[in-house]
Amino acid sequence: MRYRSTRGELTANAPNFSDILLAGLAGDGGLYMPETWPKISAQTLREWRSLSYPDLAAEVMAPFTAGAIDRDTLRGMCRDAYAGFDHAAVAPLCEVEEGLFALELFHGPTLAFKDMAMQLLGRLFDHVLTERNRHVTIVGATSGDTGSAAIEACRGRDRLSVVILHPKGRTSDVQRRQMTTILDENILNIAVEGDFDTCQDLVKGMFADKEFRDEVSLSAVNSINWARIAAQIPYYVRAALALGAPDREVSFAVPTGNFGNVLAAWAARQMGLPIKRLCVGSNRNDILTRFLLDNDMSMRAVEPSLSPSMDIQVSSNFERLLFEMLDRNPTRCAAIMREFRETGRMAVPHDAWTRMKEVFDGMTLDDTQTSVAMREFYSESLYLADPHTAIGLAAGKRFKEAGIPMVAAATAHPAKFPDAVFAATGIRAELPPHLADLFEREERYTTMSSEISGLQAAVRAHIRRN
Ligand SMILES: *Cc1c(COP(=O)(O)O)cnc(C)c1O
Repeated sequence: MRYRSTRGELTANAPNFSDILLAGLAGDGGLYMPETWPKISAQTLREWRSLSYPDLAAEVMAPFTAGAIDRDTLRGMCRDAYAGFDHAAVAPLCEVEEGLFALELFHGPTLAFKDMAMQLLGRLFDHVLTERNRHVTIVGATSGDTGSAAIEACRGRDRLSVVILHPKGRTSDVQRRQMTTILDENILNIAVEGDFDTCQDLVKGMFADKEFRDEVSLSAVNSINWARIAAQIPYYVRAALALGAPDREVSFAVPTGNFGNVLAAWAARQMGLPIKRLCVGSNRNDILTRFLLDNDMSMRAVEPSLSPSMDIQVSSNFERLLFEMLDRNPTRCAAIMREFRETGRMAVPHDAWTRMKEVFDGMTLDDTQTSVAMREFYSESLYLADPHTAIGLAAGKRFKEAGIPMVAAATAHPAKFPDAVFAATGIRAELPPHLADLFEREERYTTMSSEISGLQAAVRAHIRRN
């Protein structure tokens, strides 16, 4: 499989999976997309019903890694990646109400769905870097979940140095401790005096400094990396198979921020999975719902909410869907993205918008509605949902159709957001055994100002120590 940018034509020496894994973003600023969509036949889907989760993941992903990583190696990595999950099914389905299911994606080490892709990504990086005899430095900014998942996936790996910036005092205590109590030598946590945007700007600044970027071999594991999307497709296939696919349709509801998770569901649909509708759940940062309602994709200031992992205005992965809805025309896609950056408003052509609406629905819940949803799912079904999951379930409930199972992505464990869960339900969610002593563990992190040269010096020193 070869890859192309959403802003450029397929080139003669187009990159393969290993190349785009290390590169992340395309050179022209676009996002990588597979050259074609692999198709899964109904017969193949039936055969996959009996596979374990890791083996199914390898089958689903194999066409994307073709020509770069062979199937047996990939299967080995998948088995290893999901062995540490604390549920035998890896991503179990739980029926919350008749016809409404929670697909629990939070049974990995850091209790959020990011582990589903990141645990595999750490192993893929290791494999490709060993093959190429290289070392890279992963630098990332986090508002909480991505950082901990990346650190957990990359800890102790010789060929990776990891530097994660988090906004000082602005992540939850659980989120911070999940990062700062990992004491492996290749991990450096930096608390930045500023907010999440400050952290993200610093990371962008480091990538923009070409000399520095080459000197330390910068790389990224943020959600625009195609490998992460690819690793999120298998659980949609698994859930649909469990509910009767290919002989019955299924719909999904996904609490959405950067549009990566729901895009993976859309990719599964492209590959032949019988998905009827995709429902996007948002918090008060509702750019996507406004878009689906009125074709109004205009940026506003980000406001904090009970579901911080969705406090986002620009959903980077939306560009991939836009590209498809423009019939893969990179020139039009690049022009629309350029205008969006300049004006803060994305002018999506009416026919592209109409085509998106044929599949997508959107629903917004503010903090009060989110708390009410948490309370009701608990009192009516004894299902304890974190704020993100509650938004997904509420969106699923709203758009559920008779006879078609609706599956909501449960993206975080309730214990990851204990205060919001307690305020809504009166229940204290307990951390699972492997994190029970989180608050007794030693923390290690450096506090720094938002000055980029100091930060670059810290990255260099960290690599020398490694
Ligand atoms: C990252 C995250 C989301 C948003 O997922 P996207 O792929 O960015 O849309 C939702 N819920 C939780 C708990 C997350 O960590």
